[in-house]
Amino acid sequence: MKTHVRVLVIGGGVVGVSTLYHLTKKGWKDVALIERTELTAGSTWHAAGLLPLFNMSYTVGQLHKYSVDLYKRLKSETGQDTSFHVTGNLRLATSRERMDEYQKYCATANTIGVPFEVIPPKRVKELWPLLELGGSPETAAIIGALYHPDDGHIAPADLTMALRKGARTGGAEIYEHTEAQAFTRTAGGEWQVRTSQGDITAEHLVLATGNYARQTGRMLGLNVPAIPVEHQYIVYDESAELKAYRAGGGRELAVLREPDQSYYLREERLGWILGPYEKGAPARFADGVPDWFGRSLFPGDLDRLVPHIEGATRRVPALEHCGIKDIVNGPISYTPDGSPLIGPAAGVHNVWLNEGHSFGITAAGGSGWQLAEWITEGEPGIDMLAVDPRRYGAYAGKRYTVKKNEETYRNVFTVHFPDEERADGRPAKTSPVYDKIDARGAVWGQRYGWERANWFAPKGVERKDAWSFRRSNYFAHVGNEVRLMREAVGVIDLTPFTKHEVTGPGAEAWLDNLVANKVPGKVGRMALSHALTRKGGIRSEFTITKIADEHFYVVSAGAAECYDGDYLTRALPKDRSVSLRNITNARGCFVLAGPKSRAVLAQLTDTALDNDAFPWLTAKTIEAALAVDVYALRVNFVGSLGWELHFPIEYAHNLFDALFEAGAGHGIGMVGMRAMESLRMEKSYRMWGSDMTPDYTPFEASLDRFVRLKKGSFIGKEALERQLTAGVPNRFVTLEVHEVTDADPLGNEPLFDEGGRMIGRATSGYYGHHLKKSLAIGYVQAQFAPVGTELSILILGQMKRATVLRESPYDPENLELKA
Ligand SMILES: Cc1cc2nc3c(=O)[nH]c(=O)nc-3n(C[C@H](O)[C@H](O)[C@H](O)COP(=O)(O)OP(=O)(O)OC[C@H]3O[C@@H](n4cnc5c(N)ncnc54)[C@H](O)[C@@H]3O)c2cc1C
Repeated sequence: MKTHVRVLVIGGGVVGVSTLYHLTKKGWKDVALIERTELTAGSTWHAAGLLPLFNMSYTVGQLHKYSVDLYKRLKSETGQDTSFHVTGNLRLATSRERMDEYQKYCATANTIGVPFEVIPPKRVKELWPLLELGGSPETAAIIGALYHPDDGHIAPADLTMALRKGARTGGAEIYEHTEAQAFTRTAGGEWQVRTSQGDITAEHLVLATGNYARQTGRMLGLNVPAIPVEHQYIVYDESAELKAYRAGGGRELAVLREPDQSYYLREERLGWILGPYEKGAPARFADGVPDWFGRSLFPGDLDRLVPHIEGATRRVPALEHCGIKDIVNGPISYTPDGSPLIGPAAGVHNVWLNEGHSFGITAAGGSGWQLAEWITEGEPGIDMLAVDPRRYGAYAGKRYTVKKNEETYRNVFTVHFPDEERADGRPAKTSPVYDKIDARGAVWGQRYGWERANWFAPKGVERKDAWSFRRSNYFAHVGNEVRLMREAVGVIDLTPFTKHEVTGPGAEAWLDNLVANKVPGKVGRMALSHALTRKGGIRSEFTITKIADEHFYVVSAGAAECYDGDYLTRALPKDRSVSLRNITNARGCFVLAGPKSRAVLAQLTDTALDNDAFPWLTAKTIEAALAVDVYALRVNFVGSLGWELHFPIEYAHNLFDALFEAGAGHGIGMVGMRAMESLRMEKSYRMWGSDMTPDYTPFEASLDRFVRLKKGSFIGKEALERQLTAGVPNRFVTLEVHEVTDADPLGNEPLFDEGGRMIGRATSGYYGHHLKKSLAIGYVQAQFAPVGTELSILILGQMKRATVLRESPYDPENLELKA
């Protein structure tokens, strides 16, 4: 065994071996993998081998697509057969909501180039003759289906062996029966790994330990929110009907999914494999995998399976005549949102996670591809935020993760509405004035563990969402909140914002090197600033305010607390000239905005609020009601006159009550996140994570005014300069979508030119309640960006006309903001 390698991968399941393979493809040959027993001994050996391309996430969809493409060529590359059966994959629909879900998915599939067809019942029957279309009281009628001709199923162990062969050919070494038992950081900054076979030192560690993710993480002081859940499938004996069908020349049937009955079904040696996602499947191993488990399985739980067997048998009567040969019940790793954890582990140097895979056979190729790029080049090639481990923070503790993972598992096949807010593990983090906001009719949602009011139900209106892909029960109420903000004054509780304090003699120069904009030099000035990747993409957005000399207040998205905190911490200079403090929980934030906001705030403070004394884009430390040391920032995300009041958290109640008392005569009211979405869309304000991602540079995002190429060096500058020379390929646009009656754009819709060629994608969309326009924002090839260009956008299967508008269709001159 080698004693030193550049990268040591821990875990010999399909995910670890794929990472190893891809590292060698990147030319890193001095890499090794250790496996505590034998390759595939974790969850990989018993997986059903399905490779569904279907995934609602733009990022995960790209990873899955890469995998399927790779697996098709692995045999010719390595000589190892992987038993990839390209049978296609058929997802049935028995409701309009399900068809809407497929159509929403298809929009994303278009943007990432995944082939699919939406097909009518007649074609379903042609593809799957052994299936009942239904239409009786027992069996719901199929109204259509989504068909992927390109995917199918594979033999997981053979796939792993093919990747192993490829990795070895590329120079990698694999040591089985070698367990990682402890990690220590060497004086030189490398990792010394104590294994059951001796020590290995490595520059980088990749953790790909599947069900062991939590205990591996613990050895490094990490809280990895990956806890497995029981998952079972049934293996049936040979089916006479299937044999007859195949004997008659029928081709292997597509993998079948009936989400409304929560199961998948595929052929297996002239019999069947039936896999349900049941209610009540328990999380396992929250405290670690016990020694006795090894390569074992759990006993089958037939009671949980019965409703799905019955549902599947009604759809495919041939099942009725087949005996059950086996029940496979194994641990399947899960995370609270169901997506894997791929990327750097927060707070530790050169430790990378490739954990939490619930569709690991499908995702192994793509996750290895991107992680290898990240390790070898310092950055991934695509926007990986949706799978970045740092999308979770400390809030994702053991109990939260158990609850959420069980909930995610049982919802694998439920309709994934864009406005869905699941109930488990809530409320977790709340603003101090949660009860007061609740008393005003809040209908709550959750992000990054925080409760946030999505909208407010007036008296007599049920406080409940009717989730939908279309305008729903809250549409009119959200509209009223938008008008309240535009015409009078509203309050939004944005306490979850991520807040950092940066102080010290080196603070300004340090921040200046991190972002593309010029950091404010004068006390009371602020700058919207973007931290870029080395490739010039947007990684973070910070509002940087100079509070005092050598003292900056840095605000970013609430969901970016760990992601941004980790980035800032890693970037800190070693000379102690800068100190960084995460004060997210020490300060709350109320947005007070609308034409009457000045009149309201004036009653609470002696600070002059007129334009001369307190202009737009400036900040002051003020007293407001009894609250002292309030950072009042004259900016907001809704585009009206207003302030963000960032106050010491202990004043939350006092300030909240005072605002409502002072605002009573002005009609003050609460405004929720959905109204904020509408308001920001009317101003073309880009949202970090959807409209601003590493996939696009600030030039593409038309944020040129926040880039100071002349100011000196900053991360990403060279890439921006290169892009300027070569030409900016895409441009940000705001679109009015025409003839929308009930389904507004929501993001991830493809955009087409007049000839029907795809030329871009929407990244967000919403109904602009004040403008009374359906709006989308996104990116198009630069030649389609001029105002007035006519395009088309595909929304839920319907092509709609769209026109490029001038940026910020509401108040383009910012007169209201400057009022
Ligand atoms: C019943 C069932 C059916 C499934 N069907 C499908 C399917 O059809 N399609 C699909 O995409 N996915 C499916 N899955 C999920 C799939 O099995 C997993 O996502 C995938 O196997 C995860 O691979 P992995 O490499 O991350 O983990 P694993 O395969 O569990 O590998 C992790 C490895 O790490 C090793 N290890 C742990 N700790 C250490 C240590 N300290 N030192 C050294 N080695 C260590 C373990 O021994 C293990 O071999 C299914 C899962 C189940 C339970």
